[in-house]
Amino acid sequence: MKNIKTVIKMRLPGSLYQCMLADLKRSHKFAYERVGFVYGKTTVLSDGTYLINYTEYHPVADEHYIEDESVGARIGSAAIRGAMQIILDENFSGFHIHLHNHIGQPRPSGDDKEGLPGVVESFANVNPNQPHGILILSKDSFYALVKVNGEKHFVIPEIIAAVQYPMVLQFPGAHTLRQSNVLQRQSFLGERSTSIFAHLKVVIVGLGGGGSHLVQQLAHLGVKHFILFDFDRVEDSNLNRLVGAYFEDIAQARLKTEIARRMILNINPEADVKIVNSRWQENAEALQVGDVVFGCVDTYEGRSQLEAECRRYLLPFIDIGMDVHKSVECNQISGQVILSMPGQACMRCMGFITEEKLATEAAKYGNVGGRPQVIWPNGLLASSAIGIFTDLVTGWSGQKNRLVYIAYDGNTGLLNNHIRLNFMEDMCTHYSLLDLGQPVFKKL
Ligand SMILES: [Zn+2]
Ligand SMILES: [Zn+2]
Repeated sequence: MKNIKTVIKMRLPGSLYQCMLADLKRSHKFAYERVGFVYGKTTVLSDGTYLINYTEYHPVADEHYIEDESVGARIGSAAIRGAMQIILDENFSGFHIHLHNHIGQPRPSGDDKEGLPGVVESFANVNPNQPHGILILSKDSFYALVKVNGEKHFVIPEIIAAVQYPMVLQFPGAHTLRQSNVLQRQSFLGERSTSIFAHLKVVIVGLGGGGSHLVQQLAHLGVKHFILFDFDRVEDSNLNRLVGAYFEDIAQARLKTEIARRMILNINPEADVKIVNSRWQENAEALQVGDVVFGCVDTYEGRSQLEAECRRYLLPFIDIGMDVHKSVECNQISGQVILSMPGQACMRCMGFITEEKLATEAAKYGNVGGRPQVIWPNGLLASSAIGIFTDLVTGWSGQKNRLVYIAYDGNTGLLNNHIRLNFMEDMCTHYSLLDLGQPVFKKL
C-alpha cells in the first residue's frame, strides 16, 4: 500500500505556451475546437516527485478532424497513432491538449471525461514508464490529469507553470485562499496573490547577506514554502549585515539556515521551511522541486552553475549581489539584480558573466579573502529583487516579457536599468530549451 501522495510538477517554456495558445485559438472549417499534442521530458526524483518539462507542441493537422456535431472536436486515429509513435521514439511524456476559451481555471467537460482517458491509455500502452495525460488550457489558466505507472487513478498535478514574465501559475489541486487580514493591505496584487504566495515553493541559495533580507521579506509577503541552502554558521563578522541574527547566536555558532527558519516561523508559524546545510550541488533535487530560485552567491562561477541548473529545470532564477572595488581615489560599491528566465537572455547574454571574469576569479582561487560587505546595498538589492519576484508571479504591474538587469551604484545610491539592456537580444544563444533534465555526461 502506498500512502504517499504522488507529486507532479509541470513546467512549460513561455515560448511554447504562447505558440500553443495561438494555435488552439485558430478556427477550423467545421470543428468547434482544436486539438494538439504536447510532449515533455520527465525527471523522477528520488522521493518520487515527477518533474514534467514540456519541450514540443504538435498541432493536429486540419485533415485529421472528423465531422461530428455532438462533440467539440473529434480527431481520427491516424493523429493519435502519430502521437503514439513520437512518444515511443523519443521516450516522451505525451499530453492531449485543447483550449476552453474562457478566463479562469478550466475543468474537464463531460465529453472530455468520456473521450480523453482512452487517448491517454494508448500513450501509456506504448510507453508505460512515462507519465501521460490531458492538459486543458483556458485563456489564462490550466488544468491537467496525469496517468502515472502504478497509480490506479489520474493524478492532479501540484503546479502547472508557464515560465514567462509574468508567469502563468495554477495549482489545480489546491483551494484558492481568500485574502487574509494579515495581507489585506497588499490585495491590489491581485485576488489570486495570496494563493500564489502560499503555494509557491521558493528556493534561496546563500543566506549570509542579501539572502537574509529575502527570507524576511518573503515571509512578510505571505510565502509559505521555503527551501533554504547554506552550509555556514554565524560568526561575529557576520553581524554587520545578517538580518535575524543576534549577539547570542555567535556564541551558539548557529547555522545560518536555522537563523533564517527562526525568522520565518516568528512571522508565520505555519510556514513550511526545508533547510539544507550543504552546497546545493550536494542536494540538487531539493532545488529542482522549487518554483522560483533566488541566488545570493559570491562568485561568478557559483552564479554560472546555479543559472545552468535553473535552465535545465525551467526555473526562473533571480540573482542579487554586491561588490566593492577599491581604487586609489575612492571605493566604489556596485551591485545588480538579474532575472534569468529560461529561453530568454542569460547572464552571459547580459555581459554579466564572461569567460574573462571567470578566468580572473579562478586565478585568484583560495586567495580571495573576506569580501567587503555592508548591510544597506544588500537590503536595497533584496527589496528590488522581491519586487521583481512579486511582479513575475502575480503580474500586478501589467508589464510583459520584461528583461531584468538592474544596476546599483552604491556611491550615489541609485538603481537603474543596466545600459546593456538597450543592446541585447532577448533570445539566449548560450542555453537551449531542449537541454532539459539531468545532463548526460560523456566520458572523455
Ligand atoms: Zn474540453
Ligand atoms: Zn545567453
